[in-house]
Amino acid sequence: MNTSALIFMYHKIGTPKGSGLQRNLYVSPRVFRLQMRYLKLAGFRVVSMDDIVRLTRGEDVGSKPVALTFDDGFRNFYEHALPVLQEFRYPATVYAVSDLIGRDDAWETCGDATREPLMTEPQLRECREYGIEIGSHTKSHPRLTRLSPERLRDELQGSRQALEERLGAPVRHCCYPYGDCDAAVVAAAAGAGYVSGTTTQRGRVHVGDNPLTLRRTFIRNATNPFLFLLRLHTGYEDRKAQRS
Ligand SMILES: [Zn+2]
Repeated sequence: MNTSALIFMYHKIGTPKGSGLQRNLYVSPRVFRLQMRYLKLAGFRVVSMDDIVRLTRGEDVGSKPVALTFDDGFRNFYEHALPVLQEFRYPATVYAVSDLIGRDDAWETCGDATREPLMTEPQLRECREYGIEIGSHTKSHPRLTRLSPERLRDELQGSRQALEERLGAPVRHCCYPYGDCDAAVVAAAAGAGYVSGTTTQRGRVHVGDNPLTLRRTFIRNATNPFLFLLRLHTGYEDRKAQRS
């Protein structure tokens, strides 16, 4: 049995716009499809976030597990990633910002040129019907460690309630905006009833890890095929994690 897994962190699936960090949030639809195809060809098992939580408890979730997560709930997920995930019958988790459903990523401060629309409620519902899990990315995408205890609770618990009401399904997984979390944030996530929380800390997930501070592997525009294979097949992510 495998004692570690990878959680891939994607943001925007589309033609890259902007420069620098903004551009790096994109993976082109063509490359995304190749990556999904490679997982299948190389015998990786794409698992759910529930499976990742099971792995942290030492349960067997099959060989070579990889989970797919998509931050922010962009409409380009619906347009470009969903059809590919359906084709390969892969589960995935989308983290939606509950106050911004149907709007755009206005929290990005780099101007309008690279803004991308977020999925509408019907699109999120459709994703759910195809087996995509909708998790919470808070209500308004703030830096959680800077909030008062009341606002922190509201961002985590309030977004869970809002998503559950709007989508008619339980919301059990969350993702901290900017990966910004500390002990108080993790306690608030547990208090709000989440069974997992993902960060932007890199590294593999291992048996015994805290499921509320899960490490992920950022797949971005700069992730060339060589780096993609290194991350999948070696301890590269854990070595990088130790150095950072
Ligand atoms: Zn985000």
